[in-house]
Amino acid sequence: MKYALVTGGSRGIGKAVSLELSKLGYHVLINYQSNKEAAEATLSEIESAGGSGSLLPFDVANKAEVQQKLDAWLEAEPGRCVEVLVNNAGIRKDNLMVWMEDADWESILDIHLGGFFYVTRTLLKSMVKNKFGRIINVVSLSGLKGVAGQTNYSAAKAGIIGASKALAQEIARKNITVNCVAPGFIATDMTSDLSEAELKGAIPMRRFGKPEEVASVVGFLAGPGSSYITGEVISINGGLYS
Ligand code: NAP
Repeated sequence: MKYALVTGGSRGIGKAVSLELSKLGYHVLINYQSNKEAAEATLSEIESAGGSGSLLPFDVANKAEVQQKLDAWLEAEPGRCVEVLVNNAGIRKDNLMVWMEDADWESILDIHLGGFFYVTRTLLKSMVKNKFGRIINVVSLSGLKGVAGQTNYSAAKAGIIGASKALAQEIARKNITVNCVAPGFIATDMTSDLSEAELKGAIPMRRFGKPEEVASVVGFLAGPGSSYITGEVISINGGLYS
């Protein structure tokens, strides 16, 4: 069985990515933090479409829990390996820097940048042993351009981009690629407090993107057509910024 892990696979972009990878023949490990109902709904959509998956809850920012859950999964069957890892879990805690609390800086860095590091490091050895891997990190336009009110989030996403470019060089010889996708505004729970009507005027395509429009690019980066692409960032933003 070929396995893919999608962090934050229960909702939004992660849900669409889980469905896409399932269509590519992967058994999808759906990670989430607390919303079991949403994760079960994603799994049942995968199964209704003829695919397979399992739930694997943990907090990506909790180093000990990440290590314990992933080690237990790897050790449950000898030779097990996650071939495709999508680091997608995330939240926003926006504020102008002048008002930003330590906790809002630290938690965003921990979940996005820390989560990327803990999950990826834990799975890397088995990927290297397997001589194959596709690591795809969901970053953001904020990590490329910087967005006012998001110094924490922009820093975390820019950090993942830098780390991805470095890691891509470390493991290219092992047939493991590391790439990022950088969405603009995508209609999910994360952006439900934003007005598409007010913001769409700034987007050349005059609309928010759909989670499936991110998932199809992740599917491309996981599939055979992208075998010579590594260390790249692909923007998916309706022309908002490039
Ligand atoms: P979403 O709909 O709010 O879903 C967030 C997902 O992340 C949920 O599955 C949630 O799990 C999970 N999650 C949050 N914190 C977690 C943690 N500590 N450990 C494990 N899982 C955790 O968000 P989304 O819009 O799909 O965003 C997905 C990714 O895309 C994020 O990295 C985000 O920064 C990025 N992104 C989004 C947009 C956008 O416009 N939506 C734009 C650019 C980048 P639960 O269900 O258990 O809460």
